Amino acid sequence: MLLDALLPDDAASAAAADAWALIEALYPLCRSLTGDGVRQTLDRIGERIPLVRTEVPSGTPACDWEIPREWNIRDAWIADAAGHRVVDFRAHNLHVMGYSVPVRQTMTLEELQPHLHSLPNRPDWIPYRTSYYREQWGFCLRHRDRERLGPGPYEVVIDADLAPGHLSYAESVIPGQGESDDEVLVYTHTCHPSLANDNLSGIAVAVELARALHQAPTKPRLTWRFIFGPGTIGSLAWLSRNEERLGRVRAGLVLGLLGDPGVLHYKHSRRGDTLTDRAAAHVLRGTDAHAQAKLLDFEPYGYDERQFCSPGFDLPMGRLTRSPNSTYAEYHTSADDLTLIRPAQLASALQTLARLASVLDANRTPLNLSPKGEPRLGKRGLYGSVGGGAPGAFEHALLWVLNQADGTRDLLAIAERARLPFEQVEQAASALERAGLLDTLDDTPESRKKGPPP
Ligand code: ZN
Repeated sequence: MLLDALLPDDAASAAAADAWALIEALYPLCRSLTGDGVRQTLDRIGERIPLVRTEVPSGTPACDWEIPREWNIRDAWIADAAGHRVVDFRAHNLHVMGYSVPVRQTMTLEELQPHLHSLPNRPDWIPYRTSYYREQWGFCLRHRDRERLGPGPYEVVIDADLAPGHLSYAESVIPGQGESDDEVLVYTHTCHPSLANDNLSGIAVAVELARALHQAPTKPRLTWRFIFGPGTIGSLAWLSRNEERLGRVRAGLVLGLLGDPGVLHYKHSRRGDTLTDRAAAHVLRGTDAHAQAKLLDFEPYGYDERQFCSPGFDLPMGRLTRSPNSTYAEYHTSADDLTLIRPAQLASALQTLARLASVLDANRTPLNLSPKGEPRLGKRGLYGSVGGGAPGAFEHALLWVLNQADGTRDLLAIAERARLPFEQVEQAASALERAGLLDTLDDTPESRKKGPPP
């Protein structure tokens, strides 16, 4: 059964408005790989959808990595001799390099310069910089402000803790109603501070899709698992703690950067021909509105698909973004603020995702129970009783499903072969199932292909 009317037009606009409100609320928080900014973010998400939180202690191994110490920052500034803050964390949290170690010192501009980061080509933007795995500290500032700095001395303070603590991630699970325990994973990163497109648009769109699935009148067939965690180390932590369930992952998406003016880009999984890849290609080229959507080949650079698609996991996960990371000027700067993202872009991303989710969830492998010759559809009320005319769209879809349902092709493959929208093929399959002419094989050829990891 299709997830009927998951985010139709009105609902998508309302969901996009809610996504926008969540982005506004989360924008000021100082998120990082770890720390209270992430917890506050998860608190707000938890007001919208059910969430199960996990706190992984610092030092815990995660594949070849380990959970870092927890970083929390209270305040930071560079002040001139008169005590005037020339760089102030309270004005913008991008001013401090993420994971800066604490510092409290008086120094000249010359001594300070190696710790300053600015963009000469974009003198009014503050760059976003981090140093997660090397102990150092730094400030990021507008190049215009940097050029105004006198020789000093300056009071330089970063009031932060870098200490044993935890990494926080959270999951929202919509249990499937089917007999199979197959899952669809959705991962979005939560580690960026005041940046709107990267990563708040991904968080907000994931929240709204999860909420739509939680509230859908028809329960999904598959289990849907949304994971909100920091980039790289978060997916590594989740993967290393969930190896036993990875054999259930039938499809999955990494989401991010979904609010900017760019067109949608789907990046294929490492395998390149998984259910997720086929469904995304079908949905993205299926409607005029997405005529300009682009399909990208897999590459081992990007977001958390790098971990999910590493060879030891090789999960059927692709990535959906608008402008891919580092391909737009505002990327990782203070110009990635609320002016960069548009509610209409969030809404159309949500609608595309809702359709993709419906396809992933409803896809199944049908088996024709009356394969010798065509079964008589008229006597079952499935075919127009007046002969002579060409079959209508529905009858056409019935014939395709019956012909292709030999147990080796799923509905998506049939839709592609017949050049019909998935939804039409699915409706025909449902009607044939109700008429007793079609059975559903539990697992698709896809999921049989990929057993649980050794
Ligand atoms: Zn980023």
